[in-house]
Amino acid sequence: MLKTQVYEGVTQIMMGREVEGTVYYWTSAYLVEGLLVDSGCSYTAEELVGFLRRRRVDRLVNTHHHEDHVGGNALIKRELGVGGLAHAKAIPLIKSRLPLHSYQELVWGYPEPSQARPVPEIIETKSCCFQVLDTPGHSPDHLALFEPERGWCFCGDLFVSEDQKTLRADEDIFGIAASLRRLLELPGERLVLFTAIGRIFPEGRSAVRAYLDHLARLQARVQELKEKGFSPEAIRDEIFQRESRLAELTGGHFSILNLVRQLMDDTRQV
Ligand SMILES: [Zn+2]
Repeated sequence: MLKTQVYEGVTQIMMGREVEGTVYYWTSAYLVEGLLVDSGCSYTAEELVGFLRRRRVDRLVNTHHHEDHVGGNALIKRELGVGGLAHAKAIPLIKSRLPLHSYQELVWGYPEPSQARPVPEIIETKSCCFQVLDTPGHSPDHLALFEPERGWCFCGDLFVSEDQKTLRADEDIFGIAASLRRLLELPGERLVLFTAIGRIFPEGRSAVRAYLDHLARLQARVQELKEKGFSPEAIRDEIFQRESRLAELTGGHFSILNLVRQLMDDTRQV
């Protein structure tokens, strides 16, 4: 299923696999002045291309190589002649068939491997000039696009919400925090975050600050309990009472425990 809305001239394209009328999970791509940011998952690739045929698309940038961000790349290249641009570290991953967890296969499916090229440092459209920012943490190949005049930031999966509690097993929470601090250092008052999970944060700076404060408080509490001899599981249960439902749904790929374990590292600060 695909649905769209326009926010400040940016078209948000929300996509998700539909089974018997239910969409498992929505993921968002964005289109502005011919620049497409991300291409959704493989299950929605045909719908996306159908939508894009009625629009102008001359550039595609992938924020990172995950299957819910590059799933339309191969079909877009074949049908519309537009190849993907990505972080140098993403290129070999986008052209490989990477193993997926069973929940990922169910929700997003295997993306058809495709050839991406290195993204330039600046991407200009008719009236915008996007800076490409290296923002590792969610994945080592993650990038964000920032338009200083408008204060827009297409931040992929770098930011989810002010109180995000779960972490992917392969995410680096310290890298995420460092990349988010980089967003706070961007020039201008305004920072509108366009996330891949679909939420648009008009007050991006305060949302990022709130999340970083939440993480710092959480790390202090985790450290306190660690010093008292609590195990990672006991720390999780003391602070959150129970594991997130997401842990069960993803076989532990996303969990609170992943976050607690990383925050127990007292040599690093979020
Ligand atoms: Zn991702």
